[in-house]
Amino acid sequence: MRILIAEDDPVSRRLLEVTLHKWGYEVIACPDGMAAWQILQRPDTPSLAILDWMMPGMDGLQVCREVRQQAAEPYIYVLLLTAKSQKTDIIAGLEAGADDYLTKPFDANELRMRLRAGRRILDLQAELILVREALRDQATHDSLTNLWNRATIYEILQRELDHIRRTNTTVSVILVDIDYFKRINDTYGHLIGDAVLRETAHCMQAVLRPYDNIGRYGGEEFLLVLPECDTAGAMTLAERLRTTIATKALTLAEGMTPLTVSLGVATSSLARETESLISAADAALYRAKNSGRNRVELATVADVTAESVLKGSMA
Ligand SMILES: [Mg+2]
Repeated sequence: MRILIAEDDPVSRRLLEVTLHKWGYEVIACPDGMAAWQILQRPDTPSLAILDWMMPGMDGLQVCREVRQQAAEPYIYVLLLTAKSQKTDIIAGLEAGADDYLTKPFDANELRMRLRAGRRILDLQAELILVREALRDQATHDSLTNLWNRATIYEILQRELDHIRRTNTTVSVILVDIDYFKRINDTYGHLIGDAVLRETAHCMQAVLRPYDNIGRYGGEEFLLVLPECDTAGAMTLAERLRTTIATKALTLAEGMTPLTVSLGVATSSLARETESLISAADAALYRAKNSGRNRVELATVADVTAESVLKGSMA
């Protein structure tokens, strides 16, 4: 573990450095608060800092305040080093955001214990961050396919549509639905059904551009949001998705007919509202289903409902 020491007194600094080294810490030492603050702003900064209170220029208290104001992650644990032992000073130090303090001349055993307490806090903090990130991941992803979930892909589309209002570009959406999925579930069971969903998701992801977005929109329905993609581009991609899945021969159970998908394509030149764009793609998908499945259909003006035309014209 790395520790930052800021101490203007060379003897005391050296003593700290040697002591911490002996205990197995990696030490970065600097002679004043300004240098310490510079190091603490780096992305690879040590997460534990021992700051002397009294230093020329920027003192330990000021450094501490700056660190807390920045509120960066991971958390920086600050141990204030002070010759002052009066209670009021200690309170001022803690109010500035120091986690702990140690009076000089320091007692080696005490320092060791204080550092151990600091490490424990930092470990807990790191654990909390991991848990939080995992929760965030869970809240935005579909657990079965690991694609974006419905709420998130919807939000992504909303954001893209906001973006094109400012930039005058095109965004396209594709609604993809697995053909005869209910039959697969009924015949082979839900485990195979789940495997089909995962494989289909995986298959589509491999075809997409890195900046395309894909989410699980419903049971066996996927929504793709394609930024900077016009009608021709979206149709080409949809057709590629269709053929990739159809030729992949995704036969996950014996006797299973090869898997196919139906696709509905719509672009923002048709509708600029999230709901109406999705419902236009849905209407096209419905046509693809009714025309025999395993095919791509493009949404037309007729697919945009009267209500959304009105909304679109007001936007
Ligand atoms: Mg000093």
